[in-house]
Amino acid sequence: MFNKRTRIKELLKSNSVDFETTVMGWVRTFRNNQFIAVNDGSTNNNLQIVVALGMLDDSTLKRITTGACIKATGKIIASLGKGQKVELTADSIEILGDSDAEKFPLQPKKHSLEFLREIAHLRFRTNTFGAIFRVRHSLAFAIHDFFNKKGFVYLHTPIITASDAEGAGEMFKVTTFPLDGTAPKSDDGSINFKDDFFGRSTNLTVSGQLEGELAAMAFSDIYTFGPTFRAENSNTTRHLAEFWMIEPEMAFSDLEDNMNLAEEFIKHIIKYALDNNREDLEFLSQRLEEEEKQKPQIERSEMGLLEKLDFVINNDFERITYTEAIEILKECSHNKKKKFQYIIDKWGIDLQSEHERYLVEKHFKKPVILTNYPKEIKAFYMRQNDDGKTVAAMDILAPGIGEIVGGSQREERLEKLTQRMNEMHIPTEELDWYLDTRRFGACPHAGFGLGFERIVQFVTGMGNIRDVIPFPRYPKSASF
Ligand code: ATP
Ligand code: MN
Repeated sequence: MFNKRTRIKELLKSNSVDFETTVMGWVRTFRNNQFIAVNDGSTNNNLQIVVALGMLDDSTLKRITTGACIKATGKIIASLGKGQKVELTADSIEILGDSDAEKFPLQPKKHSLEFLREIAHLRFRTNTFGAIFRVRHSLAFAIHDFFNKKGFVYLHTPIITASDAEGAGEMFKVTTFPLDGTAPKSDDGSINFKDDFFGRSTNLTVSGQLEGELAAMAFSDIYTFGPTFRAENSNTTRHLAEFWMIEPEMAFSDLEDNMNLAEEFIKHIIKYALDNNREDLEFLSQRLEEEEKQKPQIERSEMGLLEKLDFVINNDFERITYTEAIEILKECSHNKKKKFQYIIDKWGIDLQSEHERYLVEKHFKKPVILTNYPKEIKAFYMRQNDDGKTVAAMDILAPGIGEIVGGSQREERLEKLTQRMNEMHIPTEELDWYLDTRRFGACPHAGFGLGFERIVQFVTGMGNIRDVIPFPRYPKSASF
């Protein structure tokens, strides 16, 4: 067996000293031919390994370079130097993998996030990305923990689908047809998918919701957590072409139950990260503070990262209707002075991210749940309100990000649902399986979708969504 080692995180937090152990990891720095800072990814803190003078020959010393992988065996002792409680005095050092210092792109200095994105295969080995991806892991674990404790069933919805949940475009096609123009065509000139792999036109999923609803009509409460794909040409700091989404769907629930669950859920996973990733969050908080120093005073956040997360878990989210939001926006001085790119002048328009952020960051200064949107700007499956104009939708807006959750109570009344589908030109025959839930034992139900990367962004304080997923996919980019 090769792996008899102790994780650096365990060693650094244990209080005992004077015992033999083995560590393995990657060299961050090597000073004075004597002090190796080694990191194994279990924490951002390095273990200092002390090499006695004369212990290693020159050729081995030369191989201890930034990026090299080493195995060190020795004794853990109370550290003589500052900055760490314990260190390891090496009895033996073995080089597991060399790293040519001239060629290794990560030098022990500050690199820009843009540069690190180009070397995303190596950026895990930096403090910033070490912290981000350990937090991302914890949040994913907390999500399963939350729903599992509540008795939800984790449902795996298909990634290749024939349906489009929103009834809109923006999907990636899945086909084995050749791309050289020889794919079979129908009389009208369109591609005939009858002979394609699935015998029909298929896409990568944009949402697991419709399938989720089917299962909620059997298990009562389900959630999905998987990748979704959108071919939207959005070059923003909060859109990816491939992102992960969590979509709970609950039978016997209305819009208020939905909001309550979403709020409890968000607070739970943030609290989990605060309780379990303190060091990483402190590091990221520091990083953000440094970054914000580069910005003009008025663009800086009023709260530090940890303060903001504490604030979110300890305060109720603001809940207002779309109509109330429009009133606030219409009357605000920002709008009157025409400082929005899109001026708010009438009820019915879709809110842009600048409006969402104004409500959250300037007006309420806390997360906001917006409800009851005009039906024209929302999906066909949302439950129609009695006013004939709005639907029982809810979006949750977070400071610094904008929308993190989109959800609704679903239209469970067959007639109302098909009537809305007809109005929106959504073919009912193709969604006959979906309509079956309304034919056989329908009940009030609701659900929402949380963009995983958006909550990771929120918790880590990272400004660009491309930095919170290991290998981001976005327009003109799919490296690694
Ligand atoms: P937006 O207006 O921000 O584009 P949306 O209205 O298209 O969002 P929904 O279709 O409601 O979003 O999807 C549910 C959630 O998925 C959103 O609240 C958001 O958190 C996340 N999300 C949507 N599109 C993306 C994307 N391209 N990249 C990352 N996350 C996304
Ligand atoms: Mn979108």
